[in-house]
Amino acid sequence: MAKYTDATCRLCRRENDKLFLKGDRCYSNKCAMVRRKGPPGQNVGRRRKESEYGRQLRAKQKTKRFYGVLEKQFRKTYARAEQMSGITGENLLQLLERRFDNVVYRLGFAESRAMARQLVTHGHFHVNGKRLDIPSATLNEGDEITVIERSKKLMPFAELEASTTVPAWLEMDVNQLKGKIVSLPTREEIDINVEETLIVELYSK
Ligand code: SF4
Repeated sequence: MAKYTDATCRLCRRENDKLFLKGDRCYSNKCAMVRRKGPPGQNVGRRRKESEYGRQLRAKQKTKRFYGVLEKQFRKTYARAEQMSGITGENLLQLLERRFDNVVYRLGFAESRAMARQLVTHGHFHVNGKRLDIPSATLNEGDEITVIERSKKLMPFAELEASTTVPAWLEMDVNQLKGKIVSLPTREEIDINVEETLIVELYSK
């Protein structure tokens, strides 16, 4: 799979917001958003007034980067969101939030979505008792995610803290290394700071 290989923190500085791409570091003083304000590159400190198209583009880029999804996959997800009943922008965020790698991250099995993706592709999980190693798979209400038996003693699973908190739409049993989707996430439960209507406007042109 293709991936973005530039310095990860530049992405946050470009979006002028924390995207939480680097686990613990994001919550420390080492975070580049704490140490260096402004966009990457030579024009540090200068932000031009954005056009409407610029705002729409930034909203899309920020969302892609937040979830670690590339353009083709993002387009496909948007097309699915359009087919669903309800509000397209909210459908899009909900589908991204229901990605297997994101759920693994939200359950606290991984420090970042990138790490969650790696754990998934390495086959450490069962979903409803069957092995699943596709990070982009969409999970459903009621799905149960468990760490496979022989991985339970491995890092990071062996050191998961019982105090791990998860969003209200998820349930986590740290002792059994088992998580569950108890309901589908609502917009209020999705913590990305983006105006999803701008993405809809961009793709509707
Ligand atoms: Fe973004 Fe995390 Fe880097 Fe801070 S440490 S700039 S939140 S990726």
